[in-house]
Amino acid sequence: MRRRMRHSHAAAAHREGFGRGNVRDGKFAGRVIMSEAIDKRNGTYPQKQPGLYMQRIRIPGGRITAAQWRVLAAVTEAYCEGTPLHLTTRQDVELHDVPGDSVAAVRTQLEEADLHTVGACGDTIRNITLCPTCDLKPAGVDLAAGVGALHAYLISLPFYDALPRKFKISFSVCGQACAQPYVNDLGFMLRTDGRFTVIGAGSLGPRPNLGIVLRERIELDEVAPYCAAVLEFFAEHGDRNNRRKARLRHVRERMGDEAFVSAIEQRFASWRNGGPFPVLAMHRTQRPLPFAERLCPPLGDLTAAQARDLADVMDGQGLACRLGLHQEIFLRGAQPIRPAPSLANLSGRPAVVCCPGSRSCPHGLVDTQGLARRILSSGWTGGLSDRCVHISGCPNHCAHTAVARMGVSGRRRTVDGVTQEAFELFLGGGEGCSEALSQRGPVIDAEQFLERLEQWADSPNAAPRAPTQSVHPGRTNVT
Ligand code: SF4
Repeated sequence: MRRRMRHSHAAAAHREGFGRGNVRDGKFAGRVIMSEAIDKRNGTYPQKQPGLYMQRIRIPGGRITAAQWRVLAAVTEAYCEGTPLHLTTRQDVELHDVPGDSVAAVRTQLEEADLHTVGACGDTIRNITLCPTCDLKPAGVDLAAGVGALHAYLISLPFYDALPRKFKISFSVCGQACAQPYVNDLGFMLRTDGRFTVIGAGSLGPRPNLGIVLRERIELDEVAPYCAAVLEFFAEHGDRNNRRKARLRHVRERMGDEAFVSAIEQRFASWRNGGPFPVLAMHRTQRPLPFAERLCPPLGDLTAAQARDLADVMDGQGLACRLGLHQEIFLRGAQPIRPAPSLANLSGRPAVVCCPGSRSCPHGLVDTQGLARRILSSGWTGGLSDRCVHISGCPNHCAHTAVARMGVSGRRRTVDGVTQEAFELFLGGGEGCSEALSQRGPVIDAEQFLERLEQWADSPNAAPRAPTQSVHPGRTNVT
């Protein structure tokens, strides 16, 4: 335990040291950034454009206040004017195009508004996600404070920011697994008896593998030592030589499910005899907020003016706001919600989750954002207003296409000697909320995908099915 505490203090000093000072030419106020990875752990990524950075901000459980929206609007206007705020699929917000010499000032202003960046990127514990509106429904459950305390505890561990790869944790307390436990390293699902079932070692990527049940039952006071045990195990056994095989699910694949679960149990047995550990605080709620609105900003982008309007609507109408896991915003209120004019066209449409694609990702094979814009500008998306469409720019499936109920991943194909964009169809997945991976459909073109979406919009209760035959004529080679 003493050894752990020593490491913990070292880790805290390390975090503090790299969270301050001005960034100039790769230095923090005269202190050289030790490596790019260290800066990533503070949520800052270099962009393709020299001198510009992306700053990711963790919004724990997606709980965000009107005051925080105003700070985000002010910061983006001051330092990256004209660039919208970007919502992620992990309840984070990103600022893009931050000049290098403004990174430290941006972080300071964010911290003052209780907006945190530590652990937003890099090989560490990412934002812990929580079903977005679980505490706002009748007979709801609130776990936000407990999850916050858990995160604070986990980042005090010596190995928290020296993991072989990123580590994702989610909590689903709604009974519908809506925090996607099957695509997290650890996904906790609340049982009817008040305990959790633990799903774990799942991830997507080019060869997706969904999580398995690691433990049928765990008590609330066992969650922290269980997470610590798995993290320590991962730090020891994760592959540090090959990033493509460095996630926890790869350890599981190397060991086999049975041996993996058994090894985790042994590690947990030694941890739970230690302590003290934070108990996951959870309480039942009864908030009468029956009116709901789901806003889906196109491409997950929200302008500073829209963020400010959102804050005004929240304050003026007493609304609660949550970030979802499909780049969406949920509002809940006691009265019918009246969105500001700048927000009105964000409701009644599907969430179209798309990665950067060929516009800015070196792996991108297709223009994902162009396709997303075509979908959102069509006149028939009303029938999909509670749905999500996934568009990934290549078979890495970063937009969660591999678990999509309806989605595509970019390909290139040569038809009669001409190379063109193509899209591999994925259908019938469980959105990470069940054990269902999407079924691969044919490789089609953008027009054919739009036709299929329109059919789905016309009969939204019908489960999407793959066509039985290829729909493209001509001699075709697909890559
Ligand atoms: S799916 Fe491919 S194109 Fe899209 S972000 Fe991932 S690697 Fe890039």
